Amino acid sequence: MLQGVGVMSKKVLIIGGGASGILCALKVAENGGEVTIVERNDRVGKKLLSTGNGKCNLSNLNVSAEAYNDTFVKKILNKYDAKRIMDEFASLGLLCKADQEGRIYPYSESASTVVNVLLQRLAERRVNVICDCVAQKIEKKENGFAVITSKGEFFTDKVVLASGSDATCGLNSHSLVSGFGHKIVPLNYAIAPLLCKDVRGANGVRAKVYASISINGETLMGERGELLFKDNAISGVLAFRLSSMLARYRDDVKSCQLEVDFVPDMPEKDLAEYVYNNCRAYAPLEGILHKALAFNVLATLPMDRSLIMSRKKANDIARGCKTFKVNITGIGSKNSAQVAGGGIALEDIDDVTLQSRLCKGLYIIGEVENVDGLCGGFNLHWAWASALACSEDIL
Ligand SMILES: Cc1cc2nc3c(=O)[nH]c(=O)nc-3n(C[C@H](O)[C@H](O)[C@H](O)COP(=O)(O)OP(=O)(O)OC[C@H]3O[C@@H](n4cnc5c(N)ncnc54)[C@H](O)[C@@H]3O)c2cc1C
Repeated sequence: MLQGVGVMSKKVLIIGGGASGILCALKVAENGGEVTIVERNDRVGKKLLSTGNGKCNLSNLNVSAEAYNDTFVKKILNKYDAKRIMDEFASLGLLCKADQEGRIYPYSESASTVVNVLLQRLAERRVNVICDCVAQKIEKKENGFAVITSKGEFFTDKVVLASGSDATCGLNSHSLVSGFGHKIVPLNYAIAPLLCKDVRGANGVRAKVYASISINGETLMGERGELLFKDNAISGVLAFRLSSMLARYRDDVKSCQLEVDFVPDMPEKDLAEYVYNNCRAYAPLEGILHKALAFNVLATLPMDRSLIMSRKKANDIARGCKTFKVNITGIGSKNSAQVAGGGIALEDIDDVTLQSRLCKGLYIIGEVENVDGLCGGFNLHWAWASALACSEDIL
């Protein structure tokens, strides 16, 4: 703590008024720092407003390094787990709750509540917020830094880069630190629709399924969840989670396939028995699947015009329902993605303090780093946790 008589407050300039930048500013100001945020948008917290479909899924009870692309996050997650984040928000006056899957939301289920609370605290702690201001260059000086922006030059003791990524309405500012030698891992967008051409006529249909994703023939991840079929794409929370696996796969992707089990509650044998005993041969899936999905499943099966249900037909139908394969041709563009995989390489960032190893006094937090988490509150969790870690070290 630097509060109290006789202690000079340090100037900290934070580039980016998103989730990580705002929380970092609040904590540094609480500890006695003189904090300025420069934000290129006309207000801070803009992306936060659209998170979690407007409800802001701000963390997850099941936070662990496995949900992220790199074990770099481990030490910080051990210290700043979901309970710590909820406690932190409680101390700011924001009540949170978790749903049955462990996803944490503000009690109001409204992202604007989160932003309003954060804005109030910024004002109370006298954080200097400068909007419509783009940071263009960071220069190291003898006793600190000069940050050149579209609104002039700022001199500061310490700099925090909290500029996020250019996924959906963001800006890519990684290059601000390349001059110090930081490497940039090329961006791959994630938490975005999986693109495909194989599913027809199912736009808008949702299904609760088990699905797995394979790349070059190797299955990387499989989970239960909801898919939302669209024209030439598959969306929904489960597709978003699986898309992270594809985004993280940095070798040559020769093939990518989604395998969907439309009836995950029944073993294939039981489903085949059910179909054989109960279903009409001319419309065998009418009582099991949405008709658009039934059409797509049946289209993958061998042609059989017989009006009599046979064992073979029932077995084929059950297999078709449980192993429906879709060739994935890519991931939605940055405008439909929630996060960017890639970013500032982690090897030159301290994994406890988030201070640059190449430039003392420069800190790098949040999504601008090469850290991405699965869909479910893990990305905002990293934004908060990295902000807290940095704020404890910076003064
Ligand atoms: C539609 C959508 C929904 C999402 N939903 C969820 C969810 O429910 N749960 C979850 O965990 N994650 C979610 N995410 C991801 C999450 O929002 C981000 O991972 C998180 O906001 C990253 O925080 P950050 O502080 O690193 O970056 P950001 O929140 O993106 O903030 C960075 C800020 O820096 C500013 N900036 C950039 N460059 C400059 C510059 N040169 N000068 C000045 N300012 C600059 C940007 O304008 C921005 O305001 C969602 C993302 C989107 C797009």
